[in-house]
Amino acid sequence: MIGGDILVVEDEPAIQELVAVNLEHAGYRVQRAYSVGEAESLIREVRPDLILLDWMLPDLAGTVLARRLRGDQRMKDIPIIMLTARAQETDKIEGLESGADDYVTKPFSPKELLARIKAVLRRRAPQLTDDLIEIGDLRLDPAAHRVSGNGSDINLGPTEFKLLHFFMTHPERVYSRVQLLDQVWGDHVFVEERTVDVHIRRLRQALESTGHDRLIETVRGTGYRLHA
Ligand code: CA
Repeated sequence: MIGGDILVVEDEPAIQELVAVNLEHAGYRVQRAYSVGEAESLIREVRPDLILLDWMLPDLAGTVLARRLRGDQRMKDIPIIMLTARAQETDKIEGLESGADDYVTKPFSPKELLARIKAVLRRRAPQLTDDLIEIGDLRLDPAAHRVSGNGSDINLGPTEFKLLHFFMTHPERVYSRVQLLDQVWGDHVFVEERTVDVHIRRLRQALESTGHDRLIETVRGTGYRLHA
């Protein structure tokens, strides 16, 4: 497990505590909110990698927040898992229609919740899982924190490692500097866009020895892409 920020939006303290403790134990960083309003102000500060969202909250329904996020350009890709005591089929459909990726009915076991989180991340944010990834003879092992090209080790700093992991799990797509800041840095309020260029340069330098620097392409006026 390589971490990631999870926002837990749940107004019942006992459930909030149970979920947060289990997530932290599994290596995630946890932010806690007890209402939609509180969740929205936290999201503006740090873009979470995944949101666990209770349906019945004191100010608004969780589905309202899900719909708002899906309509927001910067937030629309955040995976959402709804937590709810409602088990009826129509409610489940409404939850998924609001933009949730999955749906966990209370009571649930922490083990089940963690399995669901992993499955959703694997589908929606594979750079947060520790699955081994290979593109040609470039190989990245998140669990061992190792990168190799043609069988020889490539040493990367932590940011370059995250950048490469993100590109390798999202090949052939162009990402702007702002999107990369959101995806790789997360909290980028005080990070300038040119910081991305600095780390791209370092990443290319590190990949030069095995000739993989050519995989990272600059798309003029737009951003960067990994071209396999
Ligand atoms: Ca509730």
